Order: sequence, then structure tokens, then C-alpha cells
Amino acid sequence: MNAPTQATDTVADTTSIEALRERYRVERDKRLRGDGNDQYIEVDGEFSHYIDDPYVKPGFSRDPVKRQVDVVLIGGGFGGLQAGARLREAGVEDIVIVEKGGDFGGTWYWNRYPGAQCDVESYVYLPLLEELNYVPTQKYAQAPEILAHSRAIAKHYRLYDDALLQTEVTKMQWDESTCRWQVTTDRGDVLAARFIAMANGPLNRPKLPGIPGIESFRGHSFHTSRWDYDYTGGDADGGLDKLRDKRVAIIGTGATAVQCVPHLAATAQQLFVFQRTPSGIDVRDNCATDPQWAAGLEPGWQRARMENFNALVSGVPQAEDMVNDGWTDIVGKTLRMLHEGANDASGRSLAETLELANAEKMNEIRARCNQLIADPETADKLKPWYAMFCKRPCFHDEYLQSFNNANVTLIDTDGEGVTRINEHSIVAAGQEYEVDCIIYATGFEVGTSYERRAGYEMIGSAGRSLTDKWSEGINSLHGMAVNEFPNCFIMSQMQGGFTVNYPHMLDELAVHIAHIVSHAQQHGIERVEATTEAEQGWTQTIVDKGMNGAVLGGETCTPGYYNNEGQPNPLAAQAAPYGEGPIAFFELLRQWREAGDFSGLKLESTDAGQH
Ligand code: NDP
Repeated sequence: MNAPTQATDTVADTTSIEALRERYRVERDKRLRGDGNDQYIEVDGEFSHYIDDPYVKPGFSRDPVKRQVDVVLIGGGFGGLQAGARLREAGVEDIVIVEKGGDFGGTWYWNRYPGAQCDVESYVYLPLLEELNYVPTQKYAQAPEILAHSRAIAKHYRLYDDALLQTEVTKMQWDESTCRWQVTTDRGDVLAARFIAMANGPLNRPKLPGIPGIESFRGHSFHTSRWDYDYTGGDADGGLDKLRDKRVAIIGTGATAVQCVPHLAATAQQLFVFQRTPSGIDVRDNCATDPQWAAGLEPGWQRARMENFNALVSGVPQAEDMVNDGWTDIVGKTLRMLHEGANDASGRSLAETLELANAEKMNEIRARCNQLIADPETADKLKPWYAMFCKRPCFHDEYLQSFNNANVTLIDTDGEGVTRINEHSIVAAGQEYEVDCIIYATGFEVGTSYERRAGYEMIGSAGRSLTDKWSEGINSLHGMAVNEFPNCFIMSQMQGGFTVNYPHMLDELAVHIAHIVSHAQQHGIERVEATTEAEQGWTQTIVDKGMNGAVLGGETCTPGYYNNEGQPNPLAAQAAPYGEGPIAFFELLRQWREAGDFSGLKLESTDAGQH
């Protein structure tokens, strides 16, 4: 189907907004497919080598650990690190972090592909900067610096002590007789944990596309989250010298591909970029940290900056935009238009203003393609036709220009995706391309069951698993505590306070968990459980407040992991973040702590007395 071509450059009047909506609809409809999330292959069985850890020496072994412990944290990424830090600050000493990787860092441990860097400003994104007396070297820090900071947090808070690295939890079962979780691992460990907190991360399990013939490929292949530098040469800064005589394919054009394509383009003999849906690429404008500015930072600076950013991306006007980047720009535009609307006779509603600001931003992003790409046909194919926030916004100053290189070919599949993979070639858009290597930049599982993504089963006090308990929708108090799963805390955005700056949310959860655990320790409380009523009440609040569909990638959006691959999910409303936004959610948690009555939690001590 040919999409209408008018309404590309201006949205000044209603006619063009309507044409734009129609174009968005046409592009979305091309991409809707019956199999939704099932189009992806679970990285298991014959594909399990795609998730082997390339960063550790093979053959690691150690004696199993069998003991009681106060707190087991699952995951050594930002969530586990922040929970560990806040627990230590609250006086909790006996902590074991269980981490699959060979070190701390989580997503920054795994994602070492060339060009990886944070997309949210590092001064607000990197956790605990003031606590560690550290200021990142760039506005958007590169991955190795973020990994080093993760290690520094672990050292600072003594989280390496007792940590079980290269270890995967296999099962967790609640033992009512001891009021402890029995945590077992793939290294034979058995930990009897008073409390557990799950910081598995939202995007921790890589996925592969279910392209026919994928198993038949005989060349080299890997997933971006396990970059094979032995094959490509080079390091996180690029210099992928071993690709000079290789025909390389990359499948996927999300945030990961956007960062690594320029490095592949710099050295590969040939690079084929297989695109199903283009990303929107805004300006990056990275810069080195000004040492004078860093030296003049006053105590409390990071919290103030995080809150300023969080307010702006939540649409709350601020006297100053401290971060001033592509994330906050759209909010600025919206507020300016709202102000103009209030002062003219347009009579625009809030929804119309938001749509107009969004369209203006996306027009700027589409215009960048024309400005930066020499071939107009290629420029057109790289234009995203959906509203901002339907997909993850991307920021880069070299990605689009990569397509000007003679060795780089964009294979746009017009929403279809790759047709087939053969022993030595890829078929797409009616053509066959011979390649030596395929790099899968196809992202991570979202929308599969929590336990599948976590990689272990957990059985609660009623003898059923969390997946069973949640089979008809998520239920929790504040997204963290679940009835039937005492002494367990979940760190995620589900039924919580999602913000663009994910580590900000993790910190608020970490403070909250540390508050409950330290209170329990100080008062001899052995069992903490969300009541059924509290869980039902909070779930109802989540449904009633209904998170804004546009932010979550609503049904008018092109498919992707933000909107369950375009398939209506009857359980989605229950899993949504708190509809009044992260600021209100964080405030609600703060007030809950201050009230001191632990409302909604049942607290029981050794003598079964209640607190
Ligand atoms: P994504 O899920 O965003 O992208 C996967 C890509 O694979 C999409 O372009 C998708 O196309 C494409 N794809 C899937 N199946 C096929 C197929 N059969 N044929 C062709 N193409 C296919 O994964 P990423 O790893 O890029 O990013 C995941 C998330 O990780 C980001 O959204 C972001 O939250 C985070 N991230 C953060 C970074 C940062 O902060 N610096 C950097 C990188 C990632 P389609 O769009 O059509 O589905």
C-alpha cells in the first residue's frame, strides 16, 4: 500500500494534522501482525549460546554457599546496587547480591557494543554521584565509564563482600516454618533469606527474531548484548579492524543499532542495515564536562537536577531547564504552545496542543534526514512516521550520516521485516544479500511472564508461583509488595512510578525497601506481607488513574515493545505505572513512610505479635 505523501513538512493547519494522522495510521497498519510477541524466539536450546557471557574466562567454579542471610538482592545492575547502597545506609549489614554476570553493572555489564553510551544525561542518570563524589566526564557518558561507576558503587558500599557473581538463581520458595525464602542457584548455593528484593531489570533477556531459516545460517552471528570483539576486533570506542574484509548485516534499527552502526560503517567492507521501522534520531550534542562547573557544584546538586529533569519530562513547568536536551525539548514546545493557545483565538484543547507539539517535534526529526543524508530516497526511508514516544526516542550525531558511506546499504523492508535467512545470505524486500556475519540488534523480551524473564520460578506462601498468581493480572501494593509473597520486594515500573530516568525511580524504590527492612530488623519483625485488601485497593487505583496511552505507546502507535507489539492486552491496564506520574508516586511513597503505620502491610514478629 502506498502511503499518502502530503503533510510531511508542516502541521500548521488542521488539514495537515489530519493527513499526518492518516499517514501514521497507514504505517502502523502495515506493521500490525497476528503473532505479536510470538514473532520472537526465546533464546534457549539451540540458541542458548547467544547469551553466553563473553566477558568471563570459561571454567569458573567455587564451593556452594549454604547459609542464612538477612537480605538477598537478585541482580547487580543499577537496581541491586541502589538497593544495596540504601540498605547499607539504613544499617543493614548482611546482604548477598546474586548476579548472573561476572561483575556488577547489569545492562552496562552486558551491553558493551561499540558506541554504547547513556541516552539520558549522565549527571542525572548515573546513580549516587554525590555519595561517591564523582562527576561523569561527559554529558552523555560512554558505557565503560558507566560500568566503572557501577563497580565503584559496589566497592564504596562493600557490596563485593559476599556477592555471588556468575551465579543464577534457579528457584525461590517461601518457607513458612522459618519465615525465610529458600533461594537456590545454579552453583548449588542454598540461601535462607529473611528478605529478598528482585532487581532483574526490565530489559534483561535478549530475544531473537523468528525469521524463517534463522537456525540454518552458517556464517558468524551474535546479539548486540554479547558483542563478539574477538570476531570484530576493536573495543567500545570502535576500531573494528577485523571487519575490513567482511560483509556484515545488522538486523534491527532501535536505540542499540543507532549507537553501533556508525562504528560498523567505519570499518566493515560492506554493511547492510535491515530496517523494519526507522527510529526517530534527534540531536545528541554531547560535550565534555566543564571542570569549572563540576568544581562549583553545591551539595544536593544531583537530587535537584534529577527532580528538575523528572518534572520536565512529566510535563510540569520549571523555572529553569537544567538538562536542556531532546527529552526536555518536547515539553518546552508543548508548554510554549499551551501558552500561545491560551493567548490566541485558536480554542485548541490540551489534547490538540499535545498532538501539535508532538507533530512539530517529529517534523524536525524527519527534516534531519533530509539535512544529513545525501540520497533523497534513502533519507525518505529513514523517516519515522509515528508520534514521538510511540517508540524509544534516539539521539545521535553520526548515525544518519553513516548512510552516506559507499560501503553502507540501507535495506528498508517497508514494515515487513527480513523475509528469510539462508546458510550464507539474508532475503529481504525481494532481494538476497550474501553476508559473512549477522548482528542481531533485536532487543529484549518484554511482555513475557515475569518469571520467564527473571529466569527462575518463585513459589509463595500459598504454594503457587508468581506467574500463576498474576495469570489474571498484576496485583501489588505500590508495585513492590505482593500478597502470598511475604518479605519479597519487586523493583520495576509495573504499578509504580515510571520515569524516563529509570535509575531515579530505582532509587526511590531502594529508599522505600531499605526503610521497611531496617524497621523490621529493629523491631524483630520476621514477616512483612501486603494484605489482600491493600493489594486490591492499589490495583484499583492503577486502573482508575489509567496511565496516558500516548506515553505508553497507545493503540494508535506503530507496534513495538512499548505497546505489546500492537496487540491489545486486556491485562495491560493493571500493569501500568501510576497514572498521576512519577512525582506524585514518589511523594505518595514518602508520605507513606512518614505516616509510620506501614499501611497495607501486615507485620509479624517472632512471637507472632503484630506491629
Ligand atoms: P529494540 O527492541 O528497540 O529494537 C529492536 C529492533 O529490531 C527494532 O528496530 C525492530 O523493528 C527490529 N526487528 C525485530 N524483528 C525484526 C525482523 N524480523 N526483521 C527486521 N527487523 C526486526 O531493541 P534495542 O536493543 O535497540 O533497544 C532496546 C531498549 O534498550 C531501548 O528501547 C532502550 O530502552 C534501551 N537502550 C538504551 C540505550 C541507552 O540508554 N543508551 C541504548 C540502547 C538501548 P520494529 O521497530 O519494526 O519492531
